Amino acid sequence: MHFTIKNLETIKEEVKLNVKSDHLPEIIAVSKTFAIEKIKPLIEYGHKHFGENKVQEAKNKWMDIKKKRSDISLHLIGKLQSNKVNQAIEIFDYIHSVDNKKLAKKIAEAEVKKNKKLKLFLQVNLASEEQKSGVSVEGLSDLVNFCCESKLDVQGLMCIPPLNENSEHYFQKLYQLNNQYNYKQLSMGMSSDYLNATKYSSTFLRIGSKIFGERI
Ligand SMILES: *Cc1c(COP(=O)(O)O)cnc(C)c1O
Repeated sequence: MHFTIKNLETIKEEVKLNVKSDHLPEIIAVSKTFAIEKIKPLIEYGHKHFGENKVQEAKNKWMDIKKKRSDISLHLIGKLQSNKVNQAIEIFDYIHSVDNKKLAKKIAEAEVKKNKKLKLFLQVNLASEEQKSGVSVEGLSDLVNFCCESKLDVQGLMCIPPLNENSEHYFQKLYQLNNQYNYKQLSMGMSSDYLNATKYSSTFLRIGSKIFGERI
């Protein structure tokens, strides 16, 4: 058995033991920086959700596979520049990093043009970290309203908690905000903290190194 499959199965078992409800979160295998050869065993194993953080890299790696395998969902988890929106719409099924109205407007326009609807998450910068993407907590309701008016399919909220801090507090906060807006999906939890994220009903865990190994 390929090591990535073993790693994924171990994570799934752990998650199952930790989640009380019988609705288990999906695991997005974050394959950024890894060559497609290293990802293929998981694809062939039947895994459905994969994450990338760069549009060009995703196109290079996934274009051929996506043509053959419409059952695979590709998630953009990294920052999206407005000038890359058209390309992103072509290759991705989900975008987790919507954090401003200008970007939301571009996505709405591109969706009409390409006749394709993506599932979106609004990234929230919970700790107001200057270097980090994400809409502020104060600016969230304005962005929610704008996306609603623009007929975007927003599924829920997404966060990346501050490094080296206990993430639990942030997961709780995002969970509460998500409920406030009645969203049903929630994108939080990475290799170091996914079990904490499951405590607060995350529905999409974004896991990279715990599956594929350390990135260089
Ligand atoms: C890279 C990345 C991940 C996965 O990180 P790991 O720690 O390797 O699991 C998850 N979410 C985002 C937004 C990322 O950029």
